[in-house]
Amino acid sequence: MTMTTDIKITRVKESNFETIDLDNVAFGTVYSDHMFSCDFKDGEWQQPEITPYQPLQLDPSARVFHYGQAAFEGMKAYKDENNDVWIFRPEENWKRICFSSNRLAMPEVPKEIFMEGLKTLLSMDSEWVVPGRGNTLYIRPFIFATQAGVSAAPAEEYKFMIICTPVQAYYKGGDVKVKISDHYSRAANGGVGATKAAGNYAAQFYPTKKANEEGYQQIIWTNSTHEYLEEAGTMNVFFRIGNTLLTAPTDDRILNGVTRKSIITLAEREGLKVIVRKVSVAEVIEAAKIGELKEVFGTGTAAVVVPITGVGYKDDHYDLPKLDNAYSTMLKGKLLDIQYNEAEDTFNWTQKI
Ligand SMILES: *Cc1c(COP(=O)(O)O)cnc(C)c1O
Repeated sequence: MTMTTDIKITRVKESNFETIDLDNVAFGTVYSDHMFSCDFKDGEWQQPEITPYQPLQLDPSARVFHYGQAAFEGMKAYKDENNDVWIFRPEENWKRICFSSNRLAMPEVPKEIFMEGLKTLLSMDSEWVVPGRGNTLYIRPFIFATQAGVSAAPAEEYKFMIICTPVQAYYKGGDVKVKISDHYSRAANGGVGATKAAGNYAAQFYPTKKANEEGYQQIIWTNSTHEYLEEAGTMNVFFRIGNTLLTAPTDDRILNGVTRKSIITLAEREGLKVIVRKVSVAEVIEAAKIGELKEVFGTGTAAVVVPITGVGYKDDHYDLPKLDNAYSTMLKGKLLDIQYNEAEDTFNWTQKI
């Protein structure tokens, strides 16, 4: 099998960038000038392409619509003060989309296609990475089954794509209160919770909407017996009890977040006590009752670190204290310093485009 990473490039006639009012676009509604795509068929990856951003044409019987073979990634590009564009731990995202693809019986995207596609696309659309802390270009790699025909079997044809959308901040500040789930689940033992399967998100919308109606922005997902805390919405979750940070170990129900991993490393470097172990609902509620639950925060590429202001469980609600020197603020700052090339990257996490 010969594999080509020679990308066929068709440029836009004129960039859209100047026509966009970035201060007034909602997240994910506007896309950069170009998109990357690569088809898998006849058992191999075909020539990759970069074209102007445009709609796709798919057969209505394409498997993705019927059996949900689809997975995605979320990454960001950052611009530093010298106008250089940086990406953060991109190999982790490549490894994870391969992990998700394997679990959903889809082919792995070769590393060269993922990396070359990403870097070429970003260098073509670098203007869309707006400088300034908080401004990023959100990158969405994804793969889905394109083969026509509704027979219930893994498809033999797929498309891998990368699209990019400029973003300021995913959660526009404000309170993020979470409800601990005592009924719904986002993941099953032996299921696909650890993957970024598109369907995981579909399954979360309805319970999240019900939590919204009760005044909570997100759900803290629990294990099958609803005794242990696993993730907050679509983020990994940390609890600070006293001066100890706790977060659950990743397994086949919990997504192995790049942000989670990076925050653990940074917290340890800063001398904080971090313990990775199962965290029970009972101990968190008990800590909240006696004032020892100092912080709860979510981590993920889109929102980086999100402080949670209150936790609901059954009919009770616990507000969290507003701390002047919260771990979440400090750790978010340290991470952003590295991502924006404002601090030395001693872990070799970043790559310049
Ligand atoms: C993407 C995702 C995360 C965060 O992962 P990062 O690599 O930090 O962006 C956490 N939980 C779920 C369920 C996710 O889909």
